[in-house]
Amino acid sequence: MQIDLRSDTITRPTQAMQEAMWSAPVGDDVFGDDPTVNALEEKAARLFGMEAALFCPSGTMTNQLAIRVHTQPGSDVICDKLSHIYLYEGGGIMLNSFSSVKLLDGDRGRLTAEQVAGAISPEHDVHSTVTRLVSLENTMNKGGGCYYDLDEIKDIRQVCNEHGIPLHLDGARLFNALVETGETPAQFGELFDTISICLSKGLGCPVGSLLLGTADTIKKARRFRKVMGGGWRQAGFLAAAGIYALDNHVERLKEDHARARAIGTMLHRKPEVEYVYPIDTNIVIFQLPNTMLAADYVRRLDMLRIKAVTFGKHLVRFVTHHDFTDDHLAELEKQLAKI
Ligand SMILES: *Cc1c(COP(=O)(O)O)cnc(C)c1O
Repeated sequence: MQIDLRSDTITRPTQAMQEAMWSAPVGDDVFGDDPTVNALEEKAARLFGMEAALFCPSGTMTNQLAIRVHTQPGSDVICDKLSHIYLYEGGGIMLNSFSSVKLLDGDRGRLTAEQVAGAISPEHDVHSTVTRLVSLENTMNKGGGCYYDLDEIKDIRQVCNEHGIPLHLDGARLFNALVETGETPAQFGELFDTISICLSKGLGCPVGSLLLGTADTIKKARRFRKVMGGGWRQAGFLAAAGIYALDNHVERLKEDHARARAIGTMLHRKPEVEYVYPIDTNIVIFQLPNTMLAADYVRRLDMLRIKAVTFGKHLVRFVTHHDFTDDHLAELEKQLAKI
């Protein structure tokens, strides 16, 4: 049995999701007449209590579009030093938006309002970039899937309001946070100018992300998406998977979290594991001793038919997902015992 814990992006659409996809009515989305894409965008916007949404191929694109819309050349974006938008989007802030970053050192990637307030560039100082965006990530990938306290986000919003700076959320895994806290998408929609959501992760779609915002913001983002070559045609086949996932795959994220915690229990018993990050959602990060390279450990796992990724010189990451079942969990325990 092959076990793949590299990412929650590796899932295949279920039979029911495939049926929803192939039976979807479609049109040409560049002309704006794909009914299924429109239905997905309307559904998501309603869910978050926001005006509009834009369906895109990836979370990188939705984040980058948001940054592009909110900034101008010479801006800076305030974010944590572990942010996906900074570390894993190919330098897009610079390449797409000609903007810089103000990197903060948060608690496992989570910023405080005080940190954000302290990082805003002084107005009217020609030496500095102009702060035009604050970007948060929830859940925080590099922080091991941890999530924000909503009150802290409210305080950050307050700081942004005081300075007239928009607030973006990289919510690639926001639904993982919501099923844990019981908070609603609308509570987040109220606090952010733009939100990026991935359908292709825990929600189990083959492809797709959504950008949410005001009608004006989304109109601008739609233009930049076309410029980037992201205008797509009968995308309704993919949007149908998104509709299906929002209806059927949200609550079950709790199962992924329970399995992640079970993996944590296994790892705590292993002598070579020095430290396991607190497990808040579906991401498990663990640390090996200084004498053991993560790359070597991942190779050993691979020989036992367990796929994982390195997350630092001595860090390994597992991500649980829809296609990782209790059978896989039992097999993982058996195989890990061999190390
Ligand atoms: C996966 C991910 C994204 C987007 O990734 P794509 O592979 O481009 O869809 C953005 N932010 C975070 C935190 C992610 O984990």
